[in-house]
Amino acid sequence: MVTERMLQRTRTAISAVSATAPVTSSFNQARPREIAFMSRSRASLRMGRGSTLFAGVKPTRSNGRRRQFDRLPSFQKIDWVLIFVDASLSSLETGRSRVVNKRSREDTMLQEEQQAATALPIYHLSLDWPSFLAENPVPDVFERTMWRWSPDRIRAMQNERFLKLMTAAWGNPFYQKRWGAAGVEPGDIKSIDDIVKLPIFTSEDIKDDQAANPPFGVIHTEGIAGLGSEPRKLQTSGGTTGMPRPTMFGPIEWEMNGLTFARGIYIQGGRPGDVQQIPATASLANFAWCVYKGCHDYMGILPLTTGSGIVTPSRRQLEIAFAWGTRIITSFPEYLTQLAKVARDELGRDVRELKLRFLQSFLGPDVDNSLRKQLEDLWGCPVYDHYGTHELGLGAFECQHQSGMHFMEDATYFEVVDPDTGMPVAPGVAGDLVVTILYRRVLPIVRMNVRDLVRIEHTDRCACGSHYRRMSKFLGRSDSMVKLRGTNVYPMACLSAVKSDPRTTGEWFCYVDRHTRDGAIRDEMLIQIEVRKTADSRTGLKENLERRLHADLGVRVDVELVDEGALTEIANLGREGKPRRLMDRRNLRK
Ligand SMILES: [Zn+2]
Repeated sequence: MVTERMLQRTRTAISAVSATAPVTSSFNQARPREIAFMSRSRASLRMGRGSTLFAGVKPTRSNGRRRQFDRLPSFQKIDWVLIFVDASLSSLETGRSRVVNKRSREDTMLQEEQQAATALPIYHLSLDWPSFLAENPVPDVFERTMWRWSPDRIRAMQNERFLKLMTAAWGNPFYQKRWGAAGVEPGDIKSIDDIVKLPIFTSEDIKDDQAANPPFGVIHTEGIAGLGSEPRKLQTSGGTTGMPRPTMFGPIEWEMNGLTFARGIYIQGGRPGDVQQIPATASLANFAWCVYKGCHDYMGILPLTTGSGIVTPSRRQLEIAFAWGTRIITSFPEYLTQLAKVARDELGRDVRELKLRFLQSFLGPDVDNSLRKQLEDLWGCPVYDHYGTHELGLGAFECQHQSGMHFMEDATYFEVVDPDTGMPVAPGVAGDLVVTILYRRVLPIVRMNVRDLVRIEHTDRCACGSHYRRMSKFLGRSDSMVKLRGTNVYPMACLSAVKSDPRTTGEWFCYVDRHTRDGAIRDEMLIQIEVRKTADSRTGLKENLERRLHADLGVRVDVELVDEGALTEIANLGREGKPRRLMDRRNLRK
């Protein structure tokens, strides 16, 4: 529907361009019921006699309620035009119009009539594509431009995007309340340097909001308002307990979900025509969707959405990979080792025969690169590490130089803060990752502590040519951090030690208990570690692991050896969702 407001904005737009483009005058009397949109690139701009140009219509984030026709400095900047040849009152009133373009008139009429007549929130009519792509370049253009910008230019871009985000976020009740309570006023935030004045929040705060304002919370105000007038997608955190936490995506958020991943694939060396296998199920979890969309929509890579091993058994996954020429696989380390084993045991083949370009994985706290080396040996190709959450899409990824994960700086502003004080820490110091997603409006994210522990390792230019800062491997979850006798202990930091002896399965679980002896309190950590069925002896194993863990964690801990498979349940292994590594029993009544 064309509203009075839209007509007014369109008239303003026309007068703004009339200095450079001839416009006839029948518009003022017209009361079109619908207006169709044509992209300039698709339509010939030859203006015939009696033509009317409806110009500068920028339906950014159009959700039926609010179309923005602003930012029209010159004719050259106009993204969308409407050309009514011989536009007359009658043709406008019937909602019909003809567009001068190269396609047959019949096709044109069909498309345009649909655009004019539909009351449905069609996805591909819901986004101002030229503006979107100008701000968020496609992978190869991105690699030649923004990716190589100087730190100053990146900062200026972040600043501009951040200030626009702030304008939107001040209208969001979730932030109004939190920022108001912290005594922050709109005038206090003049640039991205002021971001530290804004309080940090966590997913717990979103959960509380959603519990108080079910089902999606006031943080989703714009998402809910758009339901029915603009397409929405909903993905969730991979919660292992209770209801998962919903996050909505509008068209821009959904496009960025795929585009960020595609940039990673391109920079790592994926090319159009490649076949990429995605052994993960497209469900409420975002991962498979994100990779699929990146391959399909932004790379011209053929995605094989084989689903997890439950949907397509591992043997069939491999048969498909061999038969259809898989060149890239995106999966988690555990499953990649499983696939290599099944190939050997059930097919009598070596996965190195696939001659993959590379593997995309999530190496977690593989600080000594032992897991990477194991996978690269098994598969005979490079393994690139990634970091993401369902809100971010791909947040950070390794380029071909494997020297830290580059933050996706133009999409998200990343800070690393002290877990206790919330204040930013210097590069090289581990802390909580705090994200501000610069493009998100349908559920805006401003300073969310994702409670993942990382450190910024490099701020200089990478050998790949990019100044996009690089972070360490994911070092663990800070909400599972425990203070043990004054030392911060991260259960994920046990990984290297546990894997250092081939007799273990590489799985472990930490318990923290409080003992009182003669009135003195002492906290102890007991780490259960699985031993392989095939291990010929356990001699010295417990002592070796305890020694190595003491060195890695900085505190003395006890090790208990358990049989292979004993931790499946408690550590949530081999299922959807992240493994659990810690139970803090200090506050439990005995
Ligand atoms: Zn690089």
